[in-house]
Amino acid sequence: MTIMATIPESTSTVDVRIIDTNTLLYLKTGLFWETKLKGFEGLHAPTYCFLVSHGSRHVLFDLGVRIDWENYAPKIVQLIKATTKVATGLDVASVLDKDVSGLQIRSSDVEGIIWSHNHFDHTGDPSTFPPSTQLVVGPGVKAASWPGYPSKPDAGILDTDAAGREVREITFASAELRVGSFNAFDYFGDGSFYLLDAPGHAIGHMCALARTTADPPSYVFMGADACHHPGIIRPSGRLHIPRECICAGLWKNTGEPLLSVPRGLVFADHAAAVETVHKIQELDALREVFVILAHDTTLRGRIPFFPERINDWQAKGLRERTRWLFCQDFKAAEITQ
Ligand SMILES: [Zn+2]
Repeated sequence: MTIMATIPESTSTVDVRIIDTNTLLYLKTGLFWETKLKGFEGLHAPTYCFLVSHGSRHVLFDLGVRIDWENYAPKIVQLIKATTKVATGLDVASVLDKDVSGLQIRSSDVEGIIWSHNHFDHTGDPSTFPPSTQLVVGPGVKAASWPGYPSKPDAGILDTDAAGREVREITFASAELRVGSFNAFDYFGDGSFYLLDAPGHAIGHMCALARTTADPPSYVFMGADACHHPGIIRPSGRLHIPRECICAGLWKNTGEPLLSVPRGLVFADHAAAVETVHKIQELDALREVFVILAHDTTLRGRIPFFPERINDWQAKGLRERTRWLFCQDFKAAEITQ
């Protein structure tokens, strides 16, 4: 018998708004996922950031790519030039400050920037926020990031990312709280928003879970870079692909995902990354959880983005409508043995 993942009970919710910074990165097959599929070489992917609001308290989960990416540490600028193509769009602070929808949440209202991890396509430019805004990072990220550049010439993170602001490091070591199989940290202390220990891709990598409605309960799972394509988590032993689904034929012989976590540079700890993916699959099988990976192209244009909220995703049927769309990426692909 499969035991369903459990999420602690609470009636507290947060408002969730997804910010698409219109940045595109090229994610290459082999580097970001492994597959037996022939003909799926990679794709241009967006990076999603999240504005999470608890009454008048606001935090951001990730900042995307800074628009002047040539001003990242030289090591990162070299990496970008050598490995990917970046088309930059907007910076999150300006998205908030120039918003004319009447929402009135400005960069100066953000109490914390949460980095899912310290890679350039998520760190943005914290110096565009006032010093009162905390920077919140996962376990081990402080020591791995600072001193930054230019104090340390070969650093990947900038001194200015932390200069003059409090950097708060979350630890899960003594965590007794579990969300599904994840060790969890209750950010607002009322069960509305959890940071989750999700190692593998990078040191201190965190996912997050926001309660979007209380009755019936629904949640948005922020997957960050736990993996880089929904085809790594679906289908699973807990979530079967519908027969009528486009490309269902590719799964004729297996209910397993066609993509897997690759060994190599992109996943610092491969075994931990595989375990994290299994934990996501447990939550992804629950009807009340909408999993959103940072680089999921299939959601673009199909779900509401900032300034709209995503909270009513369940009533709108967005999970059901979008969960197998990734199969279209494999339209031209075939399985090789
Ligand atoms: Zn990323």
